[in-house]
Amino acid sequence: MNKVCKVPIGGTIGIIGGGQLGRMLSLSASQLGFKTHIFDPDPEAPAKQVTNISTTFPYDDIAALEKFSDSVDVVTFEFENIPKESIKICQRFSPVFPDANSLSICQDRINEKRFLNEIKIPFSPFFSGSTVSEILQNESVLQFPMVLKSSRFGYDGKGQRIINSKQELKNSESEFKNTPVILENFIDFKLEISVIICRDMFGKISAYDPSENYHQNGILVESKVPANISFPLASDAILIASKIVNALQYVGVMGVEFFVTNENKLLVNELAPRVHNSGHWTQSGCLINQFEQHIRAITGWTTGDAKRHSDVTMSNLLGSAISRLDNKPDSSVNIYGKGAPRDGRKMGHINRIN
Ligand code: AMP
Repeated sequence: MNKVCKVPIGGTIGIIGGGQLGRMLSLSASQLGFKTHIFDPDPEAPAKQVTNISTTFPYDDIAALEKFSDSVDVVTFEFENIPKESIKICQRFSPVFPDANSLSICQDRINEKRFLNEIKIPFSPFFSGSTVSEILQNESVLQFPMVLKSSRFGYDGKGQRIINSKQELKNSESEFKNTPVILENFIDFKLEISVIICRDMFGKISAYDPSENYHQNGILVESKVPANISFPLASDAILIASKIVNALQYVGVMGVEFFVTNENKLLVNELAPRVHNSGHWTQSGCLINQFEQHIRAITGWTTGDAKRHSDVTMSNLLGSAISRLDNKPDSSVNIYGKGAPRDGRKMGHINRIN
């Protein structure tokens, strides 16, 4: 069990990152009677529209991080690409959930796979190198098609590319210059699923039903529950996710993404140490959604019931899709308050009960 740090109602939650996830976390925090303080270098960050206090400084500004974390009762974050050192600074002034160790494992694909290997959880086979050229020196591992991914700072399909030949790998050297990389076997999967799981400070775990996820160009387009998988496979996915959060002594919500292979095997693709896009369906399908669940866990409450009461399809509104939004009576709409609708930019989402 972790040390319990109870935030009193009316207390302030510091959230690093002011995108749509920070925004929805802030709304749920407010629903539970907490205030929020959003820290984001972008003065126009969408979460800043729905928070009590906001701060606009770079994520590595030590003095600003010290002041921020000293002024709140607990700190959390909405995305994994913040320096681990920044979280360590915050930890000196305030409890931080998830902690710096969970962040450092989940923000780096090489650390993540090493950790999964240690706790004996299957993942897609891979090779790593401190650069692409290092991998090229070891030709025997090349077995195309493969997927080249930067070890850090990837999201929504950024920082990765499918590689079909040695020449393509060579050509990608300049794009992945001086960056540690992994080269994964291409998995000819049947389905992608994810489990949104929450562990509280008492060690209690609540997992939502796995969702079935569809991506285009590496960006999530749609998540559906229930996923078209058997009960035993759904249970296995939840057991794997539980083993992960227990091993990390994790506090808060985590998204665990899996490939379901043609042989019905589960391979972990990625861990997201935060609320997750494929969990937005919980806003319409469960009494307690992933955002409320996270806020409960990091403020010292016990996690709530993650039972699903409805079948839901969540569709992302990407780029200009937001301008074609029609006001359907059977859909719950969530708009993020962002500026220009660039291609692939997540502008909002819709939940439809099936
Ligand atoms: P990731 O950033 O690792 O979650 O990858 C984004 C998406 O790219 C995944 O959801 C898959 O659709 C696809 N993808 C990533 N890695 C692989 C792989 N090894 N084999 C096949 N598809 C992959």
